Amino acid sequence: MEFIDLKAQYAQLRAPIMQRIQAVLDHGSYIMGPEIKELEEKLSAYVGVGHCLTVSSGTDALLIAMMALDIRPGDEVITTPFTFIATGEMIALLGAKPVFVDIDPETLNLDPARIERAITPRTRAIMPVGVYGQCADLDAINAIASAHGLAVIEDGAQSFGATYRGRRSCGLSTIGCTSFFPSKPLGCYGDGGAVFTDDDALATAMREIRVHGQDRRYHHPRIGINGRMDTIQAAILLAKFEVFPDEVVARERIGARYTQRIAERCPSVVTPTVPRTNMSVYAQYTVQVENRAEVSQYLNSRGVPTAVHYPMPLHRQPAFAFLGLGPGSFPVAEQAAGNVLSLPMHPNLHPATQDLIVEVLREAVHARREAAPA
Ligand SMILES: *Cc1c(COP(=O)(O)O)cnc(C)c1O
Repeated sequence: MEFIDLKAQYAQLRAPIMQRIQAVLDHGSYIMGPEIKELEEKLSAYVGVGHCLTVSSGTDALLIAMMALDIRPGDEVITTPFTFIATGEMIALLGAKPVFVDIDPETLNLDPARIERAITPRTRAIMPVGVYGQCADLDAINAIASAHGLAVIEDGAQSFGATYRGRRSCGLSTIGCTSFFPSKPLGCYGDGGAVFTDDDALATAMREIRVHGQDRRYHHPRIGINGRMDTIQAAILLAKFEVFPDEVVARERIGARYTQRIAERCPSVVTPTVPRTNMSVYAQYTVQVENRAEVSQYLNSRGVPTAVHYPMPLHRQPAFAFLGLGPGSFPVAEQAAGNVLSLPMHPNLHPATQDLIVEVLREAVHARREAAPA
């Protein structure tokens, strides 16, 4: 059993993927070839924003977005401690300070009710993350941001394709960023990402930053990076994007089915909460259990792969020790980090396989109960 079955997806899409790759090899525009523009047009239409720029990774998307917003040493960016390292890492890389705010215990996303008191005169932006594939409460976050003149950068690396109040992730704030890392909801076969905005000036800035701050050949008004996506990765994404809307529907259905089955078969397991405003793409299907080590060991011993996203919140990472945030700083994030367990999840997950996983999960929880002292 695969945790994320990329091979099954490739088997279905082999012909169009090979055709698209072959076209790149034939025309030879390996850097910024025609597939880049074609993909950017499709993605901006899908998300519903004026500009999409493909970039070299989700991490670089965050970096380019913050560089375009001119976030500098001494600035503060409010974000969640319950995310992949890249979110806080890029803030720190620019010399700015990640200011963590605890998460909502239901959605595990940035809790808007806690943001306002973290704002200082140095705050420049708020960076919510759509953890596990559902957007944070962007209306509430945008309202706080606009009241304080702050930008909002959505880290949609896990939520690409998800909707919030009917609008797509990455099109909900000043700049939306995503990742096309292979295991993300829309993945290429290497590194890739994209930034999205409706702001023409920010789009121009990000376009320049993506290519060494260049506005015309060998003329550099600003400092940038090499942040381009490879044409071959764009070609692969174009082939995969054809089925992506169907995969989003399948993901939503499979995630909801997990929740229903687990509620029936193992009611002590905490399943994801998806508010009515949200449609999740379930980048991960993540439950919470108290004895994670035993439960995951049992699942693994029965051939069910699992993963932990993420075992340590960012403020507890050695790299962020300089912030001096000890245990207990963000209790909701810390508790989630201790209990979360991700189950196999991909659009080709068969109902029979899913039922087997839920059955093994029931046994895992049950076995633990029986083993516990009376
Ligand atoms: C994967 C991920 C990133 C980084 O994306 P890469 O393409 O791997 O650089 C950033 N933020 C979150 C929340 C992610 O899940």
